[in-house]
Amino acid sequence: MDNFTERRLASNYRTLLFRRNASDQEIFGFECMDGWSDLIEGSLQLIQRYVGLASDVKITQVKEKFGLLRIYQRGGEEKVCQVLDICELVSSCVCELCGKSGNLTMSDGWILARCDKHGDSSHMELVESQSADERYIGSYVRSVDSILSFFGADAVRWVQQESIALGGKRPCEILGTEDGCQAVYKLLKRLEHGVGV
Ligand SMILES: [Zn+2]
Repeated sequence: MDNFTERRLASNYRTLLFRRNASDQEIFGFECMDGWSDLIEGSLQLIQRYVGLASDVKITQVKEKFGLLRIYQRGGEEKVCQVLDICELVSSCVCELCGKSGNLTMSDGWILARCDKHGDSSHMELVESQSADERYIGSYVRSVDSILSFFGADAVRWVQQESIALGGKRPCEILGTEDGCQAVYKLLKRLEHGVGV
C-alpha cells in the first residue's frame, strides 16, 4: 500500500491498530493495494464508533487473500465481526488497484478483485495513488450502520441476498460505489417505514 495512505490510516485509527504502549517504531502493515483503502477506512470508522476509543479491540492484520480483503481482529464482538464480514463481501466487487467496481477474476493462477481495465495484473505499476473519497466513505458508513441496526444478527445474510428493489443485485455487489450505498440506504429507509418493496 502507498506509504501516504498507510500513514494516514495508521494515524487516524491508532487505538485500533496499535497496542497501547507500542513504541513509535511499530508500524502497522496493510498487505493489500490502495484500491481498498476507502473500504478499509469505512470499516475502521464503524468499528471505532461501535467500540469507542478506550476499548481493547485490536485489528491484528489487514491483507488480501484469495482476492478478498481480510481484516483480522481480536476482542471484538458480533457487530465488529459483522462489519468485517460485510467488508470482505464488498471487496470482491471493488478493484484492489483503483477502487472502481470490479469482480473476482483469475490471473496467472491467482484470484484477484479487478475492474475491467485492470483485469491483467501487469497494470499494477500504472495505478496512481488517490486521496480518500470522503463522500464514499461517509455513505458506506451510513449504509452499513443502517443495515446492522435494521437486520441485527441477519445483516451479513441480507447483504448476500439478491434484492428485487436493487434491480436483482445483492447489496454487497453495490456497496463498493457511492451510488450503490445511496440505493441501499434509501431501501432501508423505506423498509424502516414499512413501505413494501
Ligand atoms: Zn481498477
